[in-house]
Amino acid sequence: MLYISTRGHPDRRHFCEILLEGLAPDGGLYLPQAYPQVDAATLAKWRTLPYADLAFEILSLYIDDIPAEDLRAICRKTYTEQVFGTREIVPLKKLDEGVYLQALSNGPTLAFKDMAMQLLGNLFEYELARRGEELNILGATSGDTGSAAEYAMRGKKGVRVFMTSPQGRMSPFQQAQMFSLQDANIHNLAIEGVFDDCQDIVKAVSGDLAFKRKYRIGTVNSINWARLVAQVVYYFAGYFQATASNAERVSFAVPSGNFGNICAGHVARMMGLPVARLVLATNENDVLDEFFRTGTYRVRGSKDTYETSSPSMDISKASNFERFVFDLVGRDGARVRYLFGEELAAKGQFDLAGDVARAREQYGFVSGRSTHADRVATIRDTWERFHTMIDTHTADGLKIAREQRQPGVPMIVLETALPIKFAETIVEALGREPDRPAKFAGIEQLPKRVTVLPADAAQVKQFIAAHCA
Ligand SMILES: *Cc1c(COP(=O)(O)O)cnc(C)c1O
Repeated sequence: MLYISTRGHPDRRHFCEILLEGLAPDGGLYLPQAYPQVDAATLAKWRTLPYADLAFEILSLYIDDIPAEDLRAICRKTYTEQVFGTREIVPLKKLDEGVYLQALSNGPTLAFKDMAMQLLGNLFEYELARRGEELNILGATSGDTGSAAEYAMRGKKGVRVFMTSPQGRMSPFQQAQMFSLQDANIHNLAIEGVFDDCQDIVKAVSGDLAFKRKYRIGTVNSINWARLVAQVVYYFAGYFQATASNAERVSFAVPSGNFGNICAGHVARMMGLPVARLVLATNENDVLDEFFRTGTYRVRGSKDTYETSSPSMDISKASNFERFVFDLVGRDGARVRYLFGEELAAKGQFDLAGDVARAREQYGFVSGRSTHADRVATIRDTWERFHTMIDTHTADGLKIAREQRQPGVPMIVLETALPIKFAETIVEALGREPDRPAKFAGIEQLPKRVTVLPADAAQVKQFIAAHCA
């Protein structure tokens, strides 16, 4: 299996070559040259596999430069009942007839990002050891990504994490999750500024190529192909749980921000998983809903990017979206390079009105948008009718799932976080605090390990240099 850039660069890469890389050399995103096809016999064989073995089977189709025994061991070490809480790893819970929640948030940081990040941590450790190299991960987070990365990389050999976050802006629970980590290879940097300042610092540091090379700076952002392919696995696992035979189809509803999660659903569907609809749910930051309704992709400025009660979906542009557009325009790299390069730079938007009907008909995409009032109502309704507490992001997904249901087709809503991470809205909706998993009792009181720095890239560089001995 070889990987190509969405912008047409002629290079072809293997999995482990792109594992530690971000963008392709031409600024595009990596995708497999072709999607491996899963036939009926294979699907039948996979139906009964434990999650870790299913992960191995799927990853094997995409990874040809890690020996099979090693890859199987990495999968089995990653997807354990101990780490993810249940034997099924991603169990389904039935709500109304034909509507399910798929639990993806029982990993170490209580958001679905653990599903991919835990694997990435083990893949990084394996590949760095094989190369005899080290990597310093520099990131910016406003919550879920940073904690998932830190819990995945803590104690891993050859890896250090330097995670910037806007000082005082994350929820107390999220701060406690990150800052209570005492591992020597994890460094929390609270920046005196907002999230954009953190991102600017990451860009400035990574843009200093001499520094980047000397200190082996890398990232774990959502465009990483290994993260995406890890997410493909739970679409298969959800399908098998919701159906009795491979003759049936299901739909998935996905709370979306950077288009990483639902892009994995698209890949699963392209591989032949019988998926009817991919239901994309946004909050008030509806860049993607607008695209799937109208064909216009219009990047938002910072004054048009709202702070909402589903903050992990507060995006101004969707960094993984280019992968789907590549498929939508017939894998025409030159066209993608033009759309995401010149056209976006010049106009801040592009128009695919002529193609968007096919996004629905050929690729199964439909979309919808939800508001704070919708979230509150959906959380309350789900609690009252099913005695199930859902978080704000999952509520966005469930609301749009109900709008897009088709008779006879089970609808699986991906649960992307647990309510404890976003307690304020739960209290607003239900008049009570969310349930807290026992292992997180009192984490706000644990000693904190964090360094406060001004919003200044030079000082962040100094900190990195001083801690890379
Ligand atoms: C990251 C995140 C999302 C958005 O996922 P994308 O892959 O960026 O579309 C949704 N919900 C939660 C809780 C998240 O942490």
